[in-house]
Amino acid sequence: MLSVAFINPLSDEGKNVVRELGDFERVLADNDELISIVTESRSQEISDDSFIPRNYIDLAIKRIEWYVKKKNDRNFDNNIYEFLFNPEIYKFDIISYYLLCQAVGAKYGSNSRESRVLVESQGKIMEYRLGKLSKSEQTLAVNNILNSVVSLSHPRWTFFEELLGSKKLRLHEMILDNGEVILDKDDFLERFSSKIHGRKPDKMYEALIGTRVKELVMIKMVMQNTEDYISNVSAKSQREIEPNPILLQLADKISEVLAESARSYGFGGGSRGGSIRASALNPKAFPPCVKNVMEGIKSGGRNDAIIMFLTPFISYARLYPSVFSENISKRVSDIDPNLSVVEGEVMPLIFGAAERCTPPLFEDQPQDKVNLIAKLGFGMHETADLKNEGQTTWYTPMSCEKVKLHLPSLCKPDEHCKKIGNPLSYYNRMTWIIRKESQQSTGNEAGKTEAKTSKTQKDSK
Ligand code: SF4
Repeated sequence: MLSVAFINPLSDEGKNVVRELGDFERVLADNDELISIVTESRSQEISDDSFIPRNYIDLAIKRIEWYVKKKNDRNFDNNIYEFLFNPEIYKFDIISYYLLCQAVGAKYGSNSRESRVLVESQGKIMEYRLGKLSKSEQTLAVNNILNSVVSLSHPRWTFFEELLGSKKLRLHEMILDNGEVILDKDDFLERFSSKIHGRKPDKMYEALIGTRVKELVMIKMVMQNTEDYISNVSAKSQREIEPNPILLQLADKISEVLAESARSYGFGGGSRGGSIRASALNPKAFPPCVKNVMEGIKSGGRNDAIIMFLTPFISYARLYPSVFSENISKRVSDIDPNLSVVEGEVMPLIFGAAERCTPPLFEDQPQDKVNLIAKLGFGMHETADLKNEGQTTWYTPMSCEKVKLHLPSLCKPDEHCKKIGNPLSYYNRMTWIIRKESQQSTGNEAGKTEAKTSKTQKDSK
């Protein structure tokens, strides 16, 4: 039978597994049982030794690697990580999960990028593991775990305040009645059967709630509990306990995996993104609409031009120019982990354009800075802070159609505009043309110099 702890490592069963570990140093020792479970997992790819975790620390790193690669790599091969979905691995997996939480909590705290990735990876692992179960196993596991994480039979929506506040869960994803969240089928039928006409109430329950909403709530609760656990470890390690060096080394390895991912995928050097790489901005390649805003807006539409139009354009052009061809939603910190590019390059350009408006935008409307931060995905705050990332969405640049509709005075098309549908596509196309032209002229110059040198050599003979 499936162990609940395989889905929710924070369950009582999961905690018992941790208590049974014994000597902590064992986490680094090669473990034959683990290796055998991994190599015998169905569909597991074993052609390369590096695919196989040999101990608890290796397994912990594989958990993070699976998540970042799955999210970013179009050629990702799940068979390399198939062992993560083999229920037989659960005891090893639980220990690895706790090692990750303790390493991240001790070194980076719960507001770090490492913590966010760990929490998200736990959510995805749970989702995939549940997806591999039969319908009846899935329903049983979801109900069991949900009952243990939501202790009340009729939770009020305020019970989920933390999840709603961090936007892990949205109110519209749940069914409410008098402020109470309805999850249970009998409860739903009792409250709504007499009000439903023309459809079967139990079918309505399945359509509106069913295992889908229960699973969503359960996964988000475990994610929140993971974040709370990391936060507790962090508080404890600051107060009393010197973290074990093994945990600190694991924390460094997690950071390396994320840095490698940013290098390979975030900056366009990986298998995705083709030739569109994030690099320093080239204002010569900006489309006419962006050049207009950069000069400063002298009449109406100042706020929308800077906040709605320029902020998404500049941030994506600098950090993630291939967003439309890759079609994977990312956060700013996936590409700029310390926000150094945002603070050093993106913000100064946007603030410069705001300053050149008449009157300067933030001088008479300083509250608009909050809207700018929100468009970058950092919530309604005055500064971009990693701990708030995800509270709002990182807005993608407006299409030409939208610009023409909402900010028509900005659009002064030139001949290149005919070939594109979005100012960001214009920018990518122009950077490519400029680069090609400069390569050609360098080639021509080199050719001329070579010809001149050989002529001089001939003359001197
Ligand atoms: S057509 Fe598109 S890219 Fe060109 S100026 Fe208008 S909005 Fe900008």
